[in-house]
Amino acid sequence: MFKFIQKHLDITLLRSSLVFALIYCVLFNSAVFIYKFEYYQADILTAILELVKDFVYVLVSLFLFFFGLSLHRVLFIVGSLILFITGALASYYLFFFSIAPTPAMMPALFGTHPTEVYELVSARIVVWLFFSVGICLYSIKHFNIQTTKMFLTRILSAVCLLIIVVNIINPKFSFLKSYFPMQYLHNGYVFFMGPSKEYAKEDISSKFTFIDSSDKDVVGVLVIGESARYSNFAINGYERNTTPNLSKIDNLASFKAHACANTTYLSVPCMLSRYGEKDLNLIDTETSMLSILTRLGFDTVWMGTQSITKYYKNKPGGSFYDEVNFHMIPGGSLVFLPNSHDGQMLPHLEKNLESNSKKFLVLHSTGSHWNYGERYPREFAQFQPDLDGSIKHDASSCNKEELINSYDNSILYTDFFLSSVIDRLKDKKAFMIYASDHGESLGERGRLTHGGDGDIPEQRTVPLMVWMSDSYKEAYPDKWSAIEVAKSKEISHDYIFHSILDCLGIESVIIDKELSLCRANSFEKG
Ligand SMILES: [Zn+2]
Repeated sequence: MFKFIQKHLDITLLRSSLVFALIYCVLFNSAVFIYKFEYYQADILTAILELVKDFVYVLVSLFLFFFGLSLHRVLFIVGSLILFITGALASYYLFFFSIAPTPAMMPALFGTHPTEVYELVSARIVVWLFFSVGICLYSIKHFNIQTTKMFLTRILSAVCLLIIVVNIINPKFSFLKSYFPMQYLHNGYVFFMGPSKEYAKEDISSKFTFIDSSDKDVVGVLVIGESARYSNFAINGYERNTTPNLSKIDNLASFKAHACANTTYLSVPCMLSRYGEKDLNLIDTETSMLSILTRLGFDTVWMGTQSITKYYKNKPGGSFYDEVNFHMIPGGSLVFLPNSHDGQMLPHLEKNLESNSKKFLVLHSTGSHWNYGERYPREFAQFQPDLDGSIKHDASSCNKEELINSYDNSILYTDFFLSSVIDRLKDKKAFMIYASDHGESLGERGRLTHGGDGDIPEQRTVPLMVWMSDSYKEAYPDKWSAIEVAKSKEISHDYIFHSILDCLGIESVIIDKELSLCRANSFEKG
């Protein structure tokens, strides 16, 4: 057996490919590991386990890259140099500017004028490029890569090369799309060759014209709530004081809104799409408002205490993560991790607000999703007795009083979370829109949680709030007065897309001003 391997497998070439994979991985993917580490800040152990697992997979995929290239000496030299140069550039921009080569960045990357490229060049990047190319050339010389004469090795190399090419066109392992070089190679391929069947969504940002009259320092925030009922907020008339903080906040308008659907899977895309509830089936045919804002140069961020990948994993066209500059899941990659409270997003929000660029942030909260007892820290367990979160209860086997107490505690925590978000925005030219994705049943006609068949009122009636900072109000007094006029009306999720773009100062034929809360016209007429 050993003799067979020795005779047919070029061990030197295999070893060289592995060393090249290791050098590339450490040099360039370290920036991705550092960037990804932010996801897991709340739980170091999860971070280490996830990143070690990723490291092994990335190393294996890079080994396939270099071993595939070793099919011919010239292919290896040229291919390695290209990979090292592109890897150096990608890691540099990710590390220093948090700019990742996502699909949304491709037009900006390849559409940049040569003079702009000149402006982006600094001494630091030149040194880094020379260093990376130097290491590559030194390694090529040191390992003295030659085209192998062993037939079996050549066959294996060719197979590896084929696997790599197929994966660049249509990645089989989606997590590799966030690591180099697969990320920029695949996204570059999609940009030049057009979307494959997997990317069947039309890019709304390039399909229509958008005129951007936004202020250079404007900040828009959309907080997507989870399973929050309109009627359980004290500011909406609930008898329990579940909103002690929000009721004290100025410039806040609360609306009763109709949710697009009663599952996260359908509601969240609907909230971000120009198509409303009546065109639910068209939503997946286009990218969302996030692609428009990224294209217009907004710093776009998606942050969530729940991961959206589980909803969109098997859907064509990728997820919202592909449409923003930066996405993160503070607290880890698991969905609805116990004690992964929404407050974990606050330090990251603060960090994202440090610069003065125009921004749009989505905070996707876990809000009041079952198990309610796990949605808030113990200091918010004000309504007693509650489900203390330590035991895994099934909603149907719970004591009704404990169930409602825990649910109300989760609203109390949402009140804290939203008021904390507002607190961090108050000195900016900012507005925040909060809307829950859908409501929740708490025992009405025996119904629990959400997702039931039909138009269930308590699962479709959601809170929607708009808040504007003093400086935003001063800059746009008309927009605030429009909100004041609208606030007693019943609205729906259909308003979110049009309101956000219009309130940010973006114009386009696809923005329906009748559905913008920043315009008084439609409401005054009615
Ligand atoms: Zn939901």
